[in-house]
Amino acid sequence: MHRLMSQGMVIAGAGMGGLSASIAMGLEGFSSTLLERRDAFAELGAGIQLGPNSTRILKQWGLMPDLETYAAWPKQIEVFRFDQSSVLAKLDLGAHFKDRYGAPYVTIHRADLQSSLFKRMLAIGQTDLRMGSTLVDLENQHNGVDIEIRTQPLSLAQNPPDLSAAQTMKGDLDCSETTRLHVSVLIGADGVSSEVRRLQWPHRRINATPHLAYRATVPQKLLPLKLRQHGVRVFLGPQMHCVQYPIRGGEWLNIVALMEAPFDADHANNSMRSSLQHAWTEKVSLDARREHFRLALKGASAELQDLFKAVDEWSAWRLFDANPLSSADQMVQGRVALLGDAAHPMLPFLAQGAGMSIEDAQRLAKAWSHQDLSPGQRLQTYGNARWLRNARVQRRAKVNAAVFHASGVKAVLRDLGLAVLGERLLDMPWLYGYR
Ligand SMILES: Cc1cc2nc3c(=O)[nH]c(=O)nc-3n(C[C@H](O)[C@H](O)[C@H](O)COP(=O)(O)OP(=O)(O)OC[C@H]3O[C@@H](n4cnc5c(N)ncnc54)[C@H](O)[C@@H]3O)c2cc1C
Repeated sequence: MHRLMSQGMVIAGAGMGGLSASIAMGLEGFSSTLLERRDAFAELGAGIQLGPNSTRILKQWGLMPDLETYAAWPKQIEVFRFDQSSVLAKLDLGAHFKDRYGAPYVTIHRADLQSSLFKRMLAIGQTDLRMGSTLVDLENQHNGVDIEIRTQPLSLAQNPPDLSAAQTMKGDLDCSETTRLHVSVLIGADGVSSEVRRLQWPHRRINATPHLAYRATVPQKLLPLKLRQHGVRVFLGPQMHCVQYPIRGGEWLNIVALMEAPFDADHANNSMRSSLQHAWTEKVSLDARREHFRLALKGASAELQDLFKAVDEWSAWRLFDANPLSSADQMVQGRVALLGDAAHPMLPFLAQGAGMSIEDAQRLAKAWSHQDLSPGQRLQTYGNARWLRNARVQRRAKVNAAVFHASGVKAVLRDLGLAVLGERLLDMPWLYGYR
């Protein structure tokens, strides 16, 4: 059995959460080993929104120059009914908002955020990253965790040039098929279909939801002038909503439309279990997508209809969530802890999944710096600090799902509330002001 040379923390999954955790640990002076089952970082996904609760942490990690270069800084969020062009409610994201929370609200392509995190992790130099390494088994012991890793030969050529730097593989791990290691603690940052969660928390359920997310990114210059956007715009309709915002310094437009679809829960659950490559992506035929758009956009304003007609390439994502966390025990047991989507899958109705993984990462590193505590106690400190916050965000995302997609009287009441309360509903100090 090999022993890892690091301080003993192994993180499974180099997504937003895993990269963030290795940065936060490195900045506190701790090394970590990061396992990633993919053998290259792909440009998967589309845009994400980051509230000041996340950008404040990214700023502390030295990533503000990257946000200034790659992100867009929308000036406002505007909410519309999907069949009208007059604004129902508006939140100003300008200087006043930024001063209040000490950090900006930005919108960024996932790939740009991932590459910024990756470069920062390399610059800090405390991470031993192993691409093509899948965690396949674990045994939680009183003095550490026995883990099993399946490795595949690396193909560095598949990494984008800036992501293929020196540390993609160092240390003593050979390319044998399966390696067993004894490590001090294991962090499962392996996403919604987490293997760590499945092995350590076999009874925690993940739910396939009827929501499909259609996502597209398009250069703004290819769109007619009236469809180009520089703020965040949210359109609310029955069983659907659509969010549009700029990314890549404002040059591209990101569109995400969440539409409820008649669906087969068994099929969705099975496809999640079997699809290890891209857990969320869903194959939707062109005809099925056109029909889905036609039904969901029935009655939508001409502007919204035009946008969907102007964009050809969409990816479809089946969405999963879980019941909100009910105790710290669901995030931490002994020497194993969960972080990000692995711990608290949520629907993207509050745009905070990545945000919570960044917050988790920062709190994990803070807890790890309590060197007077045992490794298990440090993880417990992390779980105690995070579970309630994550549960609250999960609950709010569920509530938003019902409110955003309401129809009939419920929609009328929602719109009245938005018109009367406006900014007071859209601004959320409990969310954005978290420290
Ligand atoms: C449509 C949509 C819109 C969204 N919009 C927003 C938004 O606006 N704002 C926001 O904050 N969030 C948003 N999110 C959520 C956000 O994308 C996720 O919450 C975030 O990516 C979670 O990061 P993670 O690191 O926990 O998981 P992931 O990003 O899924 O990363 C998990 C990593 O683990 C690796 N892995 C998996 N299994 C193993 C294994 N066994 N061994 C080793 N590695 C493994 C995977 O390859 C992957 O790289 C959105 C999500 C969707 C679907």
